[in-house]
Amino acid sequence: MSKIPYVDATCIGCNICPNVAPHTFEMYETDDGLKSKVTDPHGDDKKAIQEAIDICPVMAIHWQEIEEKVNKK
Ligand code: SF4
Repeated sequence: MSKIPYVDATCIGCNICPNVAPHTFEMYETDDGLKSKVTDPHGDDKKAIQEAIDICPVMAIHWQEIEEKVNKK
């Protein structure tokens, strides 16, 4: 099992997480204003992503467990 970050709908678009983990999060325009999204779940090391999770003022970033697919040849 591995884990990747995701941003939920409560994001208020404060632009902090792209500053903390710029290769993982990116702001984009929605009808409700700016929101953050994950562009590359492995873009930054887990420590930087965890820092973004911890610093988010509305706790909109979470870890999600995923199953890693192993390609056997
Ligand atoms: S830190 Fe939280 S509220 Fe701010 S842009 Fe990132 S996900 Fe949204």
